[in-house]
Amino acid sequence: MNNIVVLTIAGFDPSGGAGIQADLRTFEALGVVGISAITAITVQNSTGVKSVHAVEPDILKSQLDFLLSDIKVHAVKIGMLGGVPQVEGVAELLLKYRPPNIIVDPVLISTSGKRLLSIEGVEAMKRMLFPLSTLITPNLPELETLTGIKIDSQTSMDSAVRILNKISVQNVLVKGGHSEGDAIDTLYQSQGLPQTFHATRVVTKNTHGTGCLLSSAIAAYVAKGNALHDAVGLAKGTLSSALHTPVSIGHGNGYPHISRTI
Ligand code: PLP
Repeated sequence: MNNIVVLTIAGFDPSGGAGIQADLRTFEALGVVGISAITAITVQNSTGVKSVHAVEPDILKSQLDFLLSDIKVHAVKIGMLGGVPQVEGVAELLLKYRPPNIIVDPVLISTSGKRLLSIEGVEAMKRMLFPLSTLITPNLPELETLTGIKIDSQTSMDSAVRILNKISVQNVLVKGGHSEGDAIDTLYQSQGLPQTFHATRVVTKNTHGTGCLLSSAIAAYVAKGNALHDAVGLAKGTLSSALHTPVSIGHGNGYPHISRTI
């Protein structure tokens, strides 16, 4: 069998809802083989993130070098990065091995309010990783932080995406989950008009790691040969059904879970 391999470069969430564990669970459920490199270890449970400990950049680079010198990957998902040295390390290794289909989830702040990437880290990610990406997947607050534009209309969203295009971002999926009503995401591709994806809002507190699941699912579907537009549609469907079968453990927020059928 010809295995399809997807690499996640992300943080470790010991409660299992987000980060590397969510990514690997998603890959497994969607029938691709997951491999991973850890950028940071967080201390967190279902109630939130207590602290963040970035992995030594040399260790991160060594993980990536050893993996990529050995295994051919079909897509890469990048999540939480930790800091400037980790961003630099990831960019260096991506430039060395040039894997295809790089999906960047620009993780900036946890839902519980903990900063997961420093301000300098955000600038480094924009400068070094965005130009290497196939797609970035900001939610509305992340799009505002990345561009400095207040998003309150279609026009302001269009302007924000144009700012990202100017720094060599090819494709942007703006996730509308933070606005009112149904969850409407908008895909801006380098060619053609923006396309929207609608999903009925699932009213739940079990939303921890939704961004991780969505970006990993997009990476998996693209790795399996789907066009970007189709991969986004499929991934959104996957997330919607996973939100209906959550894992709710601990005193805080649970997380969507793909492989559960009851
Ligand atoms: N911890 C890790 C390792 C993450 O990657 C993320 C988000 O991507 C979070 C925590 C925050 O997750 P949330 O804001 O969904 O609770």
